[in-house]
Amino acid sequence: MDRTKAGLYFHIPFCQSKCPYCDFYSLTDKGLTEAYVNALCEEMKTFDRIGEFVKKDKKIPVDTVYFGGGTPSLLSPLQLERILASVRENFSLSEDAEITAECNPSSPFLGEFLQSAAENGVNRISLGMQSSSDNERKKLGRRGTASDVENAVKLVRASGIENISLDVMVGVPDSNTGTLKDSLDFVSFLGVPHISAYMLKIEEGTFYCKNIDKLNIPDEDETADMYLFMSDYLREKGYLHYEISNFGKEGFISRHNMKYWELAPYIGFGPSAHSFYGGKRFYFPRDINAFINGEKALFDGEGGDEEEKLMLSLRTYKGVSLEEKNKEFIKLTEKFVSQGLGEIRGGSFVLTPGGMLVSNSIILMLTEVI
Ligand code: SF4
Repeated sequence: MDRTKAGLYFHIPFCQSKCPYCDFYSLTDKGLTEAYVNALCEEMKTFDRIGEFVKKDKKIPVDTVYFGGGTPSLLSPLQLERILASVRENFSLSEDAEITAECNPSSPFLGEFLQSAAENGVNRISLGMQSSSDNERKKLGRRGTASDVENAVKLVRASGIENISLDVMVGVPDSNTGTLKDSLDFVSFLGVPHISAYMLKIEEGTFYCKNIDKLNIPDEDETADMYLFMSDYLREKGYLHYEISNFGKEGFISRHNMKYWELAPYIGFGPSAHSFYGGKRFYFPRDINAFINGEKALFDGEGGDEEEKLMLSLRTYKGVSLEEKNKEFIKLTEKFVSQGLGEIRGGSFVLTPGGMLVSNSIILMLTEVI
C-alpha cells in the first residue's frame, strides 16, 4: 500500500426509493443533482469546505477514486464525466488508479451510464445484488429481479470492465443457509471476481427497526452459521477472505477499501462522507443543502493511534504484527489460537472466520493489554 497517495470518495446521495433496512444518507428527490455536482466540482477546485484539514498548495497524488451512495448510477453520463474531469484537473491521478462506481442493477439507463463510466476511466463496478432470491429481494425493498442482476453484469462486461463486485447480504428476513447457498451459486455462475458480504444490521430509525417483530429474521446463531458457510464456500471457489465482509480473487482486492483498513489517507466529498488526512478525521454532516451551501467539514478527532491500528488491521487477512508486542498480548493471541479464533501467519496474528464473527470482543480484549 502506497501511503503517499490518497483515495477520494464521492457520496452520491440519491436513490430511486428508500430500502427499508438502509440508514445511509440518501434522498429520493433527485432535484438537487445538478447543483450537487456543481458543488462537488467547485469544492475540488477551491477546498473551501475541507481547507482547514487539507492544504491546496500542490496537487495531491491520488490512486483510488470511489463513487458510493446512495446510487451513483443515477448520475447522468455528463455529470459523471464532469466530476472525473475535475478530479484529473485538481489532483494528480495515477495512470493505474482504481476507479470504482457503485451501481444499482435496476437503474434506468444503466447501459449508457456504464459506457460513459468506462470511457472516463472507471475500471471497477460494484453492483448491489443482496440476494438472488426474488422473495428476499422484495423483502429488502430492492427493485428488479435476479435476471436484472445478470443483465447488469453483462452490461458491465460489454462496457469493457471486468473488475466487478457483487453485494450479498447475510441474515435477510426469511433466509437460511439453503437460500444463501442459492445466492452464492448464482454469484459463482456469474463468475464475478469480488464479493462484499454484509450481515444485516438493524439500524435505528429504519422501517426494519420499527417493524422488527413482523420480520422473520434469522437469529444470531443461524446468522453466524450462514456466515461461516459462506466463508467456506467462497474460499473453496478460490476467493481470498481478505476482510471481515470482503472476498476477492487474486488481483481483485479492493485497493480503495484497503486504504480505510490500512490507515492510508482518503478524502470524502459530500454529505455524510468521512475523511482521514494528515492524521486527522473529519466529516460532512448528513445534509445536502449544507454541502451545497458551502458549510465546512467538521473535525472528528485525531486518528491512527495504536488502538485504532489494531482494530482496523485485525479486520483484514494481514492481521496484526506480533513484533514488539508485550508478553501479555502474545499470551492472549495464543489463547485465541487455541480456541480456533485466530492463527499465526508470517509473524502476525490473523483472525479465522470464526474469530471474525466475534472480532469486537477479541479486539476489545487485545486493546486492554496493548
Ligand atoms: S439503494 Fe442502497 S443506498 Fe439507496 S436506499 Fe437502498 S440500500 Fe440504501
